[in-house]
Amino acid sequence: MSKKKLIFLGLPGASKGTLCNEIAKHININTISAGDCLREEAKKDTIRSQQIKETIGQGKLVSDELIIDILNDKINDKTQDYIFDGFPRNIAQATKLDEVLKSNNDKIDAVIYLNVSEDKLLERILGRRVCPNCNSNYHISFLPPQKEGICDKCGNDLITRKDDNEIILKDRINTFNNETKLLLDYYQDILYEIDGALELDEKFEIFKNIYDNLGE
Ligand code: AMP
Repeated sequence: MSKKKLIFLGLPGASKGTLCNEIAKHININTISAGDCLREEAKKDTIRSQQIKETIGQGKLVSDELIIDILNDKINDKTQDYIFDGFPRNIAQATKLDEVLKSNNDKIDAVIYLNVSEDKLLERILGRRVCPNCNSNYHISFLPPQKEGICDKCGNDLITRKDDNEIILKDRINTFNNETKLLLDYYQDILYEIDGALELDEKFEIFKNIYDNLGE
């Protein structure tokens, strides 16, 4: 059976990461968050890491070359199913991704758009807590950990992301509206929409149905 590649699109706070965590619990599919990969890279002590940290802190996109370089192995891997969460984020990245996949006789099978209204984002983003060790996502009201401030999965202390604040959120929303949203048109033939306001288990069921019905 050929391996599947899917993309998750959505505004910051649309619950892409939370849904990916849920999917990873139940389905044998690699969920790759472009943001997590960049944050891992940013922990290193290099000039490139410093630049990544600054760009993320400004709510802007890192260069197309950089993100493609970081995800290169995963893009080229045909041995497992993948969900790319947060990649591509503009037309240039999508075009490059298509080029690489085509040269590998591979393709994107589906693009899932988690649609949420912008007025819900601030509450979601300000309440978000993440585990810097295993990248699990929580929300202080909607998805609290069993023990306050502690990751259920690995026991690490949870943190608030530096870019999860009201000022940077505005820039991240602008970046989405100006650059990423164009991908809804670009991928219109393989686009599926899930209402981000649904409960997590409902979103998971809709996703599973889409995934199970993808052709060869
Ligand atoms: P996320 O964890 O998806 O919210 O991403 C956090 C930040 O990482 C974004 O605001 C960007 O600065 C950067 N980033 C994530 N994905 C990409 C991408 N595909 N291209 C460029 N920058 C990205």
